[in-house]
Amino acid sequence: MIASILPTYSRAPLAFVKGEGSWLEAADGSRYLDLGAGIAVNALGHAAPQLVETLTEQAGKLWHVSNLYQIPEQQKLADLLVAHTFADTVFFTNSGTEACELAVKMVRKYWYENGAPERVEILTFAGAFHGRSSAAIAAAGSEKMVKGFGPLLEGFVHLPWDDLDAVKAAVTEKTAAILIEPIQGEGGIRPASDAFLKALREICDETGTLLVFDEVQCGVARTGRLFAHEWAGVTPDVMMVAKGIGGGFPLGAVLATENAASGMGAGTHGSTYGGNPLGCAIGAKVMEIVTADGFMEEVSRKASFLRQRLEGLVAAHPDIFTEVRGQGLMLGLKCKPAPVEVVQAAYAQKLLTVPAADNVLRLLPALTITEEDMAEAVRRLDAAASEIQHNPA
Ligand SMILES: *Cc1c(COP(=O)(O)O)cnc(C)c1O
Repeated sequence: MIASILPTYSRAPLAFVKGEGSWLEAADGSRYLDLGAGIAVNALGHAAPQLVETLTEQAGKLWHVSNLYQIPEQQKLADLLVAHTFADTVFFTNSGTEACELAVKMVRKYWYENGAPERVEILTFAGAFHGRSSAAIAAAGSEKMVKGFGPLLEGFVHLPWDDLDAVKAAVTEKTAAILIEPIQGEGGIRPASDAFLKALREICDETGTLLVFDEVQCGVARTGRLFAHEWAGVTPDVMMVAKGIGGGFPLGAVLATENAASGMGAGTHGSTYGGNPLGCAIGAKVMEIVTADGFMEEVSRKASFLRQRLEGLVAAHPDIFTEVRGQGLMLGLKCKPAPVEVVQAAYAQKLLTVPAADNVLRLLPALTITEEDMAEAVRRLDAAASEIQHNPA
């Protein structure tokens, strides 16, 4: 008999009833140290007091009205995002997937309106993850995601990761855009090199192709900059944001330059829930907190502490871990055993981590995690690794 919850996830036998900062409490009172943060969503930790305050205050006033009306909370968040980024304009969504849908529509509409309706192709990369809608799975293209769900949305050209020659060969008079995660998340915490991102920008500038960054996982101060692409010194034309921006409230956004967004006039796109007062009040508070003086420097400081400890862990367990990679508090440990095995062993140590592709274990802690909790997490990973070494599967 099918479970009452559609069984699309293989879930751990863990249920939590309460969270605080980087800790989660199960029904039996046991406490777990959370280095997954709901997959980079709880950027400020569980039940962050400032977000609880903003949420309860807004909940007592107004939750939802519809985009038929002016929404001052939405305006405030849009203004903050525009002030702090390359973007001139923002559309709010409820998820990263929904942001992907709009990004795809926007770049195609751009060329339709600019006299080149044949420019519909979007170049994407191996290992990519852009969400689970029909467009997003077609964009990523991996067999695991698309098998059985055809016919797929056409027009995506899948290229090898970090291969500039492949990009140069693939850009034609039919290319609308290049879509890339500056740091692949699900793909295994794989950063694109600065040189690659710079070269993509140059190719786009030469050909008019629009550059779309998917910063759903790597954005919102996770890497120690508000958005990961800032490290490479290049800006996109369109950017997808979600996960951390709501700090746990479902919220996403598409940011764009005035030029890239020029095809999207009244009636071309919409969302019933997207940009509601409740979500946007919380998003604006998240933005205020992460852009406050010193916050991102502190993320970078925490990140170098954690990274250094992880390097030590790799040195201590060369049979389990081979490499630390990533940027800021978006870190990956390349594993020798299957990463799910390490995730399981970490559960036994009451530590939560997240597996990814390319045999990588993901560490995506709250950006507010303390040094003490990071040191404790590494101790628990060390114990998990020892356990695997002594009792191999
Ligand atoms: C999670 C993720 C998405 C999809 O976001 P949802 O909110 O799950 O729809 C898209 N792109 C990247 C890079 C992601 O990590």
